[in-house]
Amino acid sequence: MRQQAVKIKSIQHITHDVLQIVTEKPENFNFTPGQATEISINKSSWKSEKRPFTFTSLPEDDFLEFTIKTYPSHRSVTNELPELSAGDELLLHEIFGDISYKGEGVFIAGGAGVTPFICILRYLKSKNKLGKNKLIFANNTKEDIILKQEFEDLLGENFINILSQDIVAGYEHGRITKDFLDKHITDTGKNVYLCGPAPMMEAVEKHLLKLNIDEKLINKEAF
Ligand SMILES: Cc1cc2nc3c(=O)[nH]c(=O)nc-3n(C[C@H](O)[C@H](O)[C@H](O)COP(=O)(O)OP(=O)(O)OC[C@H]3O[C@@H](n4cnc5c(N)ncnc54)[C@H](O)[C@@H]3O)c2cc1C
Repeated sequence: MRQQAVKIKSIQHITHDVLQIVTEKPENFNFTPGQATEISINKSSWKSEKRPFTFTSLPEDDFLEFTIKTYPSHRSVTNELPELSAGDELLLHEIFGDISYKGEGVFIAGGAGVTPFICILRYLKSKNKLGKNKLIFANNTKEDIILKQEFEDLLGENFINILSQDIVAGYEHGRITKDFLDKHITDTGKNVYLCGPAPMMEAVEKHLLKLNIDEKLINKEAF
């Protein structure tokens, strides 16, 4: 895909370190829920710094939305994004992505790894097809949970949070273990969707295989 410039319509923090950026959408622009695009900032010193981010708006929306975790310590693109405002431009490059919806199952996300699932779950809701899909969302603290209210409304008791640092009533605590997955994955013949930081994904995938979940049912993308 040739590079396309889009103006930012709005930019706001939705958690202490996560931005929601809404932009214009070019004409005839298509993607599948779960896919991402490479983005750069349309300013002279940033144009060539491309980073992958997932569409969190729906393909039929007349705007694009991105949900982006910022890392001041990187001193790089995600640290520069909060400096932008409405009217500034982003450049969109290739569209790609390994995760797409294959059928009902369990979504397992670590931090910003939830972004492909935001789009897929919103899409399923729009088609009235959320069914018994479940989201397991791992974060350090309660303040890190992205779109907590929306997921509660979408999924009810099928939205399960696990916090590695905080101990909070009503939330699971610790890291995702084999026993934790055994408790929450009640049907091992269904799809599992896994997205998050590489070390978390490696650990979770090992547990999933030990629970005899067929490798072919594990759909994954490392952030
Ligand atoms: C397909 C795909 C889709 C994605 N979608 C999203 C999304 O929708 N939202 C989102 O928030 N993120 C998403 N990510 C992750 C996102 O692309 C990265 O967080 C982002 O590129 C980091 O850019 P940066 O400018 O902050 O850091 P970079 O310039 O990439 O890194 C700067 C410095 O930090 C170091 N660094 C980078 N990552 C880490 C780390 N995890 N720990 C320690 N040091 C590190 C690098 O080695 C480098 O020295 C996606 C990733 C992929 C592969």
